[in-house]
Amino acid sequence: MTNEGKTQAELEQEAKDCKRCQKWRDELTRDSPIVRFLLTHISLLPPPPDAPLAPLEGSQTPHLPLPITCSPCPPTMAGGYASGLGVLLCQNRFMSRKHMEDALSHELIHAWDERRFKPKRRWGEDLRAHACTEIRAENLSGDCRLGREFTRRNWAFTKQHQACVRRRAILSVAANPNCKSREEAERVVNEVFDSCFPDTRPFDEIY
Ligand SMILES: [Zn+2]
Repeated sequence: MTNEGKTQAELEQEAKDCKRCQKWRDELTRDSPIVRFLLTHISLLPPPPDAPLAPLEGSQTPHLPLPITCSPCPPTMAGGYASGLGVLLCQNRFMSRKHMEDALSHELIHAWDERRFKPKRRWGEDLRAHACTEIRAENLSGDCRLGREFTRRNWAFTKQHQACVRRRAILSVAANPNCKSREEAERVVNEVFDSCFPDTRPFDEIY
């Protein structure tokens, strides 16, 4: 990102967003049970082959098993994950720390899945693998929480929850440049749903 063409007010807002994002990130990686749990399980698996060997130059989180970076984003996204870069948190997109906790957990599930499955093709090129990790990330992160506290056993198998997971996973797969249409996204998500939805690892290890 360059600062050219931005007004003074925009630059100030950006600096404010960045500071808040970094503060929440540092609090969540220190205090959030789900974020800490996922980070621990990520650190137990070998990193993907294209992960940076040393902490990324200028990494804001050298003490964590993968970089977690705050950055401004376009309004269509809240976060992202790429093996060579780690987790991106969209600093201008979070309503609350809780919202960021859900988004960060979602991306950490992608990071854990990639380390566990070790896909041969690049992440986004295998639509079935992409659909599976989106189903799991929506299911396990709290993205589809129904206004309740985080107790997976109670809410994870209701019809409404399943519908939310399916709908959001279809949106994510449809946004993959390798996916030709919304219909294809629906088909792929439906094909893998019954095998991926019940897979709650690494969480089942503690329940
Ligand atoms: Zn996702």
